[in-house]
Amino acid sequence: MTERKIRVRFAPSPTGPLHIGGVRTALYNYLFARQHGGDFVFRIEDTDSQRFVPGAEEYIIESFRWLGIKFDEGVSFGGSHGPYRQSERKEIYREYVDKLLEAGKAYVAFDTPDELEAKRSTIENFQYDAHTRGIMRNSLTLSKEETDQLIKDGTQYVVRFKVIPGEEVHINDMIRGEVVIKSDILDDKVLYKSADGLPTYHLANIVDDHLMEITHVIRGEEWLPSAPLHVLLYKAFGWQDTMPQFAHLPLLLKPEGKGKLSKRDGDRLGFPVFPLEWHDPKTGEVSSGYKESGYFPEAVVNFLALLGWNPGTEQELFSLEQLVEAFDISRCSKSGAKFDYQKGIWFNHEYILQKSNEEIAELFAPTVANNGIDEPMERIVQVVAMMKDRVNFVKELWDLCSFFFIAPLEYDEKTVKKRWKENSAEVMAQLAEVLRGLDDFSIENQEHVVFAWMEAKGYKPGDVMNAFRLALVGIGKGPGMFDITAFLGKEETLRRLERAIEVLK
Ligand code: GLU
Repeated sequence: MTERKIRVRFAPSPTGPLHIGGVRTALYNYLFARQHGGDFVFRIEDTDSQRFVPGAEEYIIESFRWLGIKFDEGVSFGGSHGPYRQSERKEIYREYVDKLLEAGKAYVAFDTPDELEAKRSTIENFQYDAHTRGIMRNSLTLSKEETDQLIKDGTQYVVRFKVIPGEEVHINDMIRGEVVIKSDILDDKVLYKSADGLPTYHLANIVDDHLMEITHVIRGEEWLPSAPLHVLLYKAFGWQDTMPQFAHLPLLLKPEGKGKLSKRDGDRLGFPVFPLEWHDPKTGEVSSGYKESGYFPEAVVNFLALLGWNPGTEQELFSLEQLVEAFDISRCSKSGAKFDYQKGIWFNHEYILQKSNEEIAELFAPTVANNGIDEPMERIVQVVAMMKDRVNFVKELWDLCSFFFIAPLEYDEKTVKKRWKENSAEVMAQLAEVLRGLDDFSIENQEHVVFAWMEAKGYKPGDVMNAFRLALVGIGKGPGMFDITAFLGKEETLRRLERAIEVLK
């Protein structure tokens, strides 16, 4: 067999927003393609017009654009194997359906839904297969003339794959190893429906993987049951030499660990299961997205990469480039991966720390401005530098940092009770005098002078600093006191002290 260029694909059906599990599937395909210098194809599997949802295709493309996962060819990206939207490949599929019919590897069936239902209700565990096809209405039981006449009359029919019983079907899976099943358990799946002239998922998927020269099919575990039929189809067409290698990824499980992750888990526990916010065009329902919830795309990618794969080391933080280097599909686990959304939040925190203060300040500045504060960027950068290690999301900064920009109007009652002592007003007045006398208002100098003064007076630093903090911040929280005063400057520090003395007495 000649060396083939590695080509993988992500092939969603546009039936709604892209689930986070689908994002992980695409990511693994992307990493695999990149690390092998291969191609990554984006195909839209829209042969089921019943389930088509307007806007879903655009949503999926936009999601990957946000995440930084790039395709080499496909819908909206161009390429030489198009069209990449299955609804535009009708004629191609019909040609391949005819090939199977001519070779006797598929047959035409006329059974109506009612007839099928009747069989299901009279025959236990009814399945359309080698045992039952002989009692059904199809081109195997009818004469050629009858069959041709029915088709000519416009009778609706389907084309079914003729599964040969007694065979072993081998699926070579990069994660699960060799999976073997008996062909007897398979039914004669519908490959094509005359009603809409469209193939079913199975036929379109195989024909396209072949024509698009796909070498590796990396997809969710939910498609494993389809794999035996896909292997048989490859053989039926005589394409076994270029049959792709499979990799069926483990399921994403509920945070508690049992059962498949669903949108309801996200609603229940308060985390998104979609990359972007989704507005359902039918119901108007809005579902939250990672982007709008304030996650960095790098954090989402990093988080997802480690759900079902591990590098075999302690390393957790990976850039996309590092993931391309380190990813190894054979190290994916067979068992499901618990969707630990708290870990996703942790990743976002780590990316806040990793990013420069300037970058975070750029993201925070609009909130500052929206609150009516006019501060130069360098001041916002200073605040970010003091506070970013305390938040998981940029949107959490304002509540923690507003006191830098706005003097407290009220003082937290509990803190006042605990921290504002009998003599606090007096001590703060003295402290104000000490600070007023300073020409050098640097952190170091303030610290030096204030601590010397407290010692000379015999004041307990804890008591002084607690009251001082309350006066400047309004609550008992915040970074180092002299970091705050150095930022506020002498004038503002004194103003806040004096007001607190006046209000709290
Ligand atoms: N259209 C299928 C989906 O929606 C593709 C499955 C596959 O990758 O073969 O996921």
